[in-house]
Amino acid sequence: MSGLPEPQLRLLSLGAGVQSTVLALMACSGELPALDGAIFADTGWEPAAVYDQIERLHAEFDRAGIAFWQVTKGNLRADTLDPMHRFVSVPYFTRNVDGSAGMGRRQCTSEYKLSPINRKVRELLGAKPPEFRRVPKGRVAEQWIGFSTDEIHRVNDRRENAYTTKRYPLLELGMTRKDCQRWLRGVGWGHTTKSACVGCPFHGNAQWRDLRDNRPEEWADAVDFDRRIRKGGASAEPLRGEAFLHRSRVPLDLAPIDRVTRHEWADRQLDIFDELAEYGDSDGCSPYGCRSGTSAVTT
Ligand code: SF4
Repeated sequence: MSGLPEPQLRLLSLGAGVQSTVLALMACSGELPALDGAIFADTGWEPAAVYDQIERLHAEFDRAGIAFWQVTKGNLRADTLDPMHRFVSVPYFTRNVDGSAGMGRRQCTSEYKLSPINRKVRELLGAKPPEFRRVPKGRVAEQWIGFSTDEIHRVNDRRENAYTTKRYPLLELGMTRKDCQRWLRGVGWGHTTKSACVGCPFHGNAQWRDLRDNRPEEWADAVDFDRRIRKGGASAEPLRGEAFLHRSRVPLDLAPIDRVTRHEWADRQLDIFDELAEYGDSDGCSPYGCRSGTSAVTT
């Protein structure tokens, strides 16, 4: 980027979902230029599949000589339910006393992901302990972010601080999320799933069904959490209305998660085409983002 000092470090912000896994593996194989390290912010409430993925990626980084750091601000689930903990703002779907619908502010991402990552970046750039607040002048890290071309609306080129410059290698490569999934299948990482907290209100019905049908312990955990946040969570001032994890504003175990949305149908049809593209027609002759969701908007 012109006018800015050359970065001293190249760092990947690793969520361990589809897109950032592609960037990690491309860096490990040398398909992308030398990466100095990857940082994963652990909310303490990721699904087991994400922790497995992190373990596998850590081994790949070790093999490639790329540093890996796992940072954390605490356990999002436990902190939300701890009356002694400072209020944690999660984007719940709310129903106000007058019956109108609303949504909580999404501060969990910034508090449990962005802030510990930035602290680590400042530390790596030479900020002094114990707070690692001030980065020596002129020291900058290039931060890789795994947005794919279908997520271009999430790109924000505003500089949030003087010590990082953002880079979006998947945009430079022109890769969509589907391209990333295809690429992962091609290198034996087709199992990679979205990364998000077990009880993230941004889950779509497909993710809730996956939890219910394939990961019963995580489903039970989310259902239990959903019951406990009805008044906003123990660390919140009790809500006058009610809060829910599911967008229907119905308790999660009763929510209509079997209804397939138009978006999910579109996604399924694309998947069918992808299967054909990958394996050919079985009848004969015939080849990522929290991201974790959109910004919280009060409705
Ligand atoms: S995944 Fe969902 S619950 Fe977890 S930090 Fe992100 S927005 Fe918050």
